[in-house]
Amino acid sequence: MKVQISEDLVLNCMRCGFCLPACPTYREKQVESASPRGRIALMRAVMEDKLDILDIADPLDACLGCRACEPACPAGVTYGAILEQGRAQLAEVRPLPGVVRWAYRWLLGTPGGIKFSAWALWLYQKLHLSSLVRRLNLVEKIGGKGLADMEKVIPPVASPAQRAARKPAYPAVGARRYRVAFFLGCLSDIVFFETNQNAIDVLTRLGCDVELPAGQGCCGAVHSHAGEHAMAVEQAKRNIAAFEAGGYDFIVSTAGGCGAALREYDKLLADDPDWADRARAFSARCRDFSELVEQLGPVPMGEMPGTYTYQDSCHLRNVQKVAAPPRNLLKALPGARFVELPEADRCCGAAGTYMITQALMSDRILDDKSEKVRETGASTLVVANTPCHLEMLEGIQRAGLADQVQVRHIADVVAEAVRKAAPAGEEA
Ligand code: SF4
Ligand code: SF4
Repeated sequence: MKVQISEDLVLNCMRCGFCLPACPTYREKQVESASPRGRIALMRAVMEDKLDILDIADPLDACLGCRACEPACPAGVTYGAILEQGRAQLAEVRPLPGVVRWAYRWLLGTPGGIKFSAWALWLYQKLHLSSLVRRLNLVEKIGGKGLADMEKVIPPVASPAQRAARKPAYPAVGARRYRVAFFLGCLSDIVFFETNQNAIDVLTRLGCDVELPAGQGCCGAVHSHAGEHAMAVEQAKRNIAAFEAGGYDFIVSTAGGCGAALREYDKLLADDPDWADRARAFSARCRDFSELVEQLGPVPMGEMPGTYTYQDSCHLRNVQKVAAPPRNLLKALPGARFVELPEADRCCGAAGTYMITQALMSDRILDDKSEKVRETGASTLVVANTPCHLEMLEGIQRAGLADQVQVRHIADVVAEAVRKAAPAGEEA
């Protein structure tokens, strides 16, 4: 299906410029074409046939898609939707390389592909191929500096045996309060399997039956952001079909970016008569892990000494509108001190695949972020999204802070605190 830039959405922009200070790329470059207002004007010029979509490829590619411009906009311009329309139009005349499309469609886009990717990464680590690969600089030669930087910080991944031991359902500890379906994600579950398991453990201890519906796949965010609209729709339909039969109270995700995509299936499928109602019902049930845990609280937690700070996930904050719950959980940690990270609402530079495709700009934004983390004096930087997790591991390492600052997901921190309050077998 051909996607056009929507006149209605673009004309909402009254060119006031209130969004400019919120935009990380405008702050770095200080040119109009790197701002939300400038990009909208360029997409309007394409819509009016004054420019070709290829003329504006660079400004579109350089956008993080962080959507920090949306809450700053007094006119309620839905920049994210306009950007995705522009990128979809661009992808029609400048398709992704075949191997990337294949990886998006099969490796990340199907349950079997995700399983295979997890196994291949485990084998790569098990065989210690990284030292050879790094010596020959192979990842940089094939995928560029951004991918090579990411490869260096990927932690040891779960073994096939650990994955095989995962159950399809985990019963609530004590009386059941809710039935929850857990969304695993692709990269999240490949790289941070344990984080998903920790989140499931916390939810069961708080009275949730947690099920892992078979047939679920990638959320489709990576496809949407790359302009691959049809593939994003495919992912959405697969997930809706996988989750709707269970009649769950909530659908929970630990990754801010994935959760945002799930929550926007209603918009993605709004014009599809066969799927619009199903998508609305699905999106209405989606919750971020921290949001549901706070709702289920108070959470019994043991001593967690240290100084904690928190970096927002852009899509958790700007799309899902979840900013307070992770902070509230960290402030409630017994024996801990919480320090607000200056400009925590600004993107860390990860932005999905941006850290790979736009490595130089990503690094500039990341280095600034790492310095701000240093200033807090925190011993733990808490994150709530998978790309942010990898990006901040890289940033902390490059800033020479790896011995002082741990980077941890909010689910890992809360799970540790909850287990300290009640070790396994001693739950309420
Ligand atoms: S996107 Fe919103 S804030 Fe930015 S220039 Fe347009 S109307 Fe103003
Ligand atoms: S999505 Fe982020 S980088 Fe892109 S225009 Fe909006 S604020 Fe700027």
